This record gives sequence, structure tokens and C-alpha cells, in this order.
Amino acid sequence: MADERIVDTAADLGDDAVERSLRPHRLAEYIGQTAVKNQLAVYIKAAKKREEALDHVLLYGPPGLGKTTLALVIAAELDVHIRTTSGPAIEKPGDLVALLNELQPGDVLFIDEIHRLPKIVEEMLYSAMEDFYIDIVVGQGPTAHPVHFPLPPFTLIGATTRAGMLSAPLRDRFGITEHMAYYRDTELQQIVLRSADIFAMQLPADSALEIARRSRGTPRIANRLLRRIRDFADVAEQAVSVAIVDHALDQLQVDQQGLDQIDRKMLMMMIRDYQGGPVGLSTIAANIGEETATIEEMYEPYLLQIGFLKRTPRGRMVTPAGFAHLEQPYPIQ
Ligand code: ADP
Repeated sequence: MADERIVDTAADLGDDAVERSLRPHRLAEYIGQTAVKNQLAVYIKAAKKREEALDHVLLYGPPGLGKTTLALVIAAELDVHIRTTSGPAIEKPGDLVALLNELQPGDVLFIDEIHRLPKIVEEMLYSAMEDFYIDIVVGQGPTAHPVHFPLPPFTLIGATTRAGMLSAPLRDRFGITEHMAYYRDTELQQIVLRSADIFAMQLPADSALEIARRSRGTPRIANRLLRRIRDFADVAEQAVSVAIVDHALDQLQVDQQGLDQIDRKMLMMMIRDYQGGPVGLSTIAANIGEETATIEEMYEPYLLQIGFLKRTPRGRMVTPAGFAHLEQPYPIQ
């Protein structure tokens, strides 16, 4: 269990059904992200009133913050169907045509990891998004001919962890762009209490807050920790006290700030081998045996957010707060 990853981009294998069962279905049930929710509520209402498709929506922010969930909620609020896919799954133009072909007027097409769409597919999306048509070439050789393919008005919802990796022409075609921020502890506490309720598990408010505090501002992690804590509580056959939460999280090697072994390994390596930095991203990746993208998308954003790491033009540096957390003396400059 100790080497199980707490931080992860994808939903847990085999736990998909559990994750689905925890998803809120309506805007009113969706906890936190108040500014995003309030804006979307207005846009949804206006689109419904005008009987038009909602403008295309780009959701960006770290993994596990509820982008997929929000896309499903938007479709439910619009009362339309949603087709979900991901950038890497659409390999060729034909795959996109097949998806678009199934849409009814007003439907939502959700593309997760939209920054990973192949270029040729992305270019086809431009006219689909802007004027609801695509031009495709049918046949090969002398019989090849262009076909103009009209589409029903639809809403594209794109999700990405890396807004900066989207090309300008694609980014510009989204009328609505929303940034998903890390959740507050009290919001995560509500999410954990709601999940505990779904699991029919007795969870005192103070225990829920302790889980929230150690979940890196991320609902997916909060729910994942809750599931592991449920196992501990079931074995111990006790109410889930803060002491049990603490014990379970220690066993999972999640520390007081919610950092896991990989966060600590990365900070410690930077401190021991590079006096805290600056260290280039690829050097960090090579030293701890992780992909650069994994560090950039999953580990670094939270460490930056809590001020343990900072970015400089010459690389990443551990801050005095980062040194203090790992109980290491800050070098005299
Ligand atoms: P993302 O697409 O950003 O990686 P997901 O939408 O898959 O994240 O969310 C991960 C899990 O976290 C979901 O299964 C859901 O149970 C939970 N979750 C996310 N956002 C919320 C929220 N605002 N309220 C309640 N639960 C949430």
C-alpha cells in the first residue's frame, strides 16, 4: 500500500465506478469553484432562453479538480446529450467526423486533454467550432473529391491541464474560458462529507476537515484518501476519529501538508544535491525517475501554490518554507 500513488492524473483503475458514483450531477450539488459556477449558470440560462447551443467552453487547471465532472454537469443543466472523449483518442480526421456525426443540435462534445489533439484534427475543429461545418476529402487518387459536411450547432467543452500548450487559433475559438483553482479546505471538507454520506460512512466533521487539509486542494485526492481511510476504519471497527485519519495518512506517507513520497523525494534531492537549486526541470525528472510532464502537471503546481517551490529563469528553487518543511537548514547565501 505504501507505494500506492496518491497524486495521479487519471482516475484509479478499477475505481471508475466508485469515482462516477461520487460525481455531483447538477450545478447546485457541485461544491466550490463559486465564480466559475456563477458565470456558467448565467451563460447556460441565456443559451436555454435563446434556444441556442452554449458557446464553446475551455476548462483549465490541474488534474482532479472537477473539469470532467463540470462538463457532465453543464450538459445536464442544458438538458442535452454529451459525448466524451480525449485528445489522444482522436487519432485521425475520420475519428472526429464520426464523433461530430452523432451530435444532435445543442449537444455537448467533451474533449479531455485537448492540448494533445493531433494537429490535423485540431485544424478540422476550427471550422466545426466557428461555422459548424467541416470539409473532408472523400476517396483516393483520381476519384478523390472534397465534401462539405454541415454540422448541427453544438458546444465543444475542452479540458486541459496546460492552457499554455493550446495553439492561439484553437484558444481563440472558445467563447468561455474558465480557470479551475485549488479548493479551500472547507470546500473539500464538504466534498468529503458528501462522499462519506454516499458510502453510508459515519464521518465526524473534524475528521473530514483533517482529510481536506491533507488533500492538496484536490477533490479526487480527497475522495481517494477517504476510501483508504474507510478501509482502516473498517478494520479497526471504530468511529473515524481524527487520530484514525492521522494514523491512516501516516501509513500512506501523506504528510501534514498533503505531500507524498514523490514530492518529498523531489524537494530533498534538490536540497541535498543542488543546495535547493536552481535546477532545470529535466534534471529534476532524471534524478527522481519521473517524466517531466508528470512533474510539471501533477507535482509542481501544488508545491508552487503552497510556496515550497519557485520558478526562476534558471530553473526551479526550493524556498525557505520548503527547507523548513523538510527540516533542513537553509543555506547561508
Ligand atoms: P478532472 O477532470 O479535473 O481531472 P474530475 O472531474 O474527474 O477531475 O473529478 C475527480 C473526482 O472529484 C470526481 O469523481 C468527483 O467525485 C470529485 N469532484 C470533483 N469536483 C467536485 C466538486 N466540485 N464537488 C464534488 N465532487 C467533486
